[in-house]
Amino acid sequence: MFILGSKSTLAPFETFNLSLNLLCAYLSIWAISHVFEGSRSHFSRRLKNLALLDPLTGAGNRLSMNHYFEVELQDKSQLYLFLLDLDFFKQINDEHGHGVGDQVLIEVATLLRVVLGRGYVFRVGGEEFALFSSFANEEAALNTAEQIRARFENTTFDIDGLAINVTTSIGVAKFKSTNSLESFVNQADKQLYKAKQFGRNKVYCKFKKEHDYETVVA
Ligand code: GH3
Ligand code: MG
Ligand code: MG
Repeated sequence: MFILGSKSTLAPFETFNLSLNLLCAYLSIWAISHVFEGSRSHFSRRLKNLALLDPLTGAGNRLSMNHYFEVELQDKSQLYLFLLDLDFFKQINDEHGHGVGDQVLIEVATLLRVVLGRGYVFRVGGEEFALFSSFANEEAALNTAEQIRARFENTTFDIDGLAINVTTSIGVAKFKSTNSLESFVNQADKQLYKAKQFGRNKVYCKFKKEHDYETVVA
């Protein structure tokens, strides 16, 4: 355009040819930019997923849990954390093989997303998941944790024709303003430890002052 503009006469160029030339150049640049931008955003999305999602279950990983807690979560006032560990999961691997264990983990993550509804599911260890959600009060949080526990107890996963049952122990923690993510997780982990220690397939929390812990299991 600059070269053309600086010419004293445009006589050598017919107006139609010039327009066509410019139009073709514009369309070519537009098409190439479109293709490059499309593939750039596609790969950027793929990289983000690779960095933030657990490749086996599609649940968020620890990195995305940190990001969710530190950056995305604005209102933590009614936030609860359920730390959930599958019971005797090693036996499933030992009896049926690692492949079946992997399939169970995929089913577990899917079930957790369904049962939790609104809220976020992260895989924070081999067969350990962290669930974040807000509830109106402690009772509502405990009810949901109990529903999750009961749902696992009553679900039989069909993995390649094998009927697999797995129960889960859950430690529940309520967010306090002094909590960092680490201390919040530790709080839930202590309760999870109790759930394991006192028989598994249980939900434990530490809400009421008069009790060290409460079990909500029937
Ligand atoms: P507990 O009730 O005390 O939690 O017993 P557990 O057997 O679940 O616990 P333990 O920590 O002894 O074993 C956890 C097992 O989880 C061991 C490991 O083989 C299995 N595991 C961890 N990550 C994966 C995975 O990605 N795929 C499969 N298939 N198994 C996994
Ligand atoms: Mg376990
Ligand atoms: Mg574990």
